[in-house]
Amino acid sequence: TPLDIIDALEASINEKDASIGGYIHFDFDAAREEAKNADLSLPLGGIPIAIKDNINVKGQPLTCASKFLEGAFTSPYDATVITKLRAAGAIPLGRTNLDEFAMGSTSGNSAIKPTNNPADLERVPGGSSGGSAAVVAADTAIAALGSDTGGSIRQPASHCGIVGLKPSYGRISRYGLVAFASSLDQIGPMTKSVDDAALLLNAITGHDPADSTSLDDDHTDFTKDIGQGVAGMKLGVPKEYFSDSIDPAVKAIFDETAAKLEAAGAELVPISLPHTEYAVATYYIIAPAEASSNLSRFDGIRYGNRAENPENLIDLYRKSRAQGFGPEVKRRIILGTYVLSSGYYDAYYTKAQKVRTLIRKDFTDAFASVDAILSPVAPTAAPKHGENADDPLQEYLADICTIAANLAGIPGISVPAGEITSDAGTQLPVGLQILGPDLGEATILKVAKTVE
Ligand code: GLN
Repeated sequence: TPLDIIDALEASINEKDASIGGYIHFDFDAAREEAKNADLSLPLGGIPIAIKDNINVKGQPLTCASKFLEGAFTSPYDATVITKLRAAGAIPLGRTNLDEFAMGSTSGNSAIKPTNNPADLERVPGGSSGGSAAVVAADTAIAALGSDTGGSIRQPASHCGIVGLKPSYGRISRYGLVAFASSLDQIGPMTKSVDDAALLLNAITGHDPADSTSLDDDHTDFTKDIGQGVAGMKLGVPKEYFSDSIDPAVKAIFDETAAKLEAAGAELVPISLPHTEYAVATYYIIAPAEASSNLSRFDGIRYGNRAENPENLIDLYRKSRAQGFGPEVKRRIILGTYVLSSGYYDAYYTKAQKVRTLIRKDFTDAFASVDAILSPVAPTAAPKHGENADDPLQEYLADICTIAANLAGIPGISVPAGEITSDAGTQLPVGLQILGPDLGEATILKVAKTVE
């Protein structure tokens, strides 16, 4: 029964979460109350789902892993994805850790605590949805929601050995997701299996009048064609995704997985996405620009932290923001404000938007001749804690395989593909990324199912 499931999760969380640190908050009593009325005839009837702590769940605290909001904000409403999950019978249970305001690739930018990778506690789970990935991998959750602005669902899914799906831009309503970069953000499922990802996608997809970017698209049942296999499909392999920075062990897992898909009847097609080399630079102009604008609402007046004894209004803003935001968030706000300032706007922001159009066109051209695109998710398996802590640029460069999909708005999935044995003898998971054309989720789920 749903109550038994919650009991089992509570026992598992009590046993493991102290060492993993995947959760920021949980409320078992509230979940049990909901479980009593669960309608088991619904597709997710009585199933608890963990929620990244940047998505509003009515009556629960929301922190975005930031001192700005910790202890100072309770959600007054449900995000649309939560309303939809509830309508499908699911029970939101637990808020998962993330990089502060979803900015990062390790979850180490959380101002609340780090999260450890269940496969090797000395390593990061990836990020920014590292908490959601870790709790699913550790069996302290059945499934989770994450958000992906530049890889934050797919990369932690790869590092933790689970399935992570970033839907097409517009597939899912972002109403109630704390905005990071509005032209890039998408919410998506993080699950133990490809079937679960399809089930969750079914539940949360669809138009929402409260998010004008959500599409009015008749969606099919994503579980329907999932087992059809890849025979006759053309799968593109972009040469630009295999630079020198890719760990040879990651490349070997990619090659084995691609060969498996070929053996299952797919044709591997070498392709080129010529503007790939500009994706990281373009993203790190556009994402901070949008973040600097979105985060202006954290002013010490409207939400969360308010500095004491300010000298005047400007001082209140300045002190509240200086106290509340961590170093990476400040770095992004400063960078974003700079590229949007008059005199630099055209040189950086407008230029980045033009390059973004070229990056999107690369994909449009490629999908004229292939059904989906295969690549690694990240250049390496999960790094150790603190490996790039004093070199943010190095950390940004590790987003090379994931961020172009957000710039283009296309869907992508990470599915477990193999493991690398670390020096310490631990088995580090490595995922395969499958990218699809706009609204091509059914296609990439089918390829992912064949890999699984
Ligand atoms: N690592 C990227 C960043 O730091 C992506 C984050 C995300 O997708 N939320 O911006």
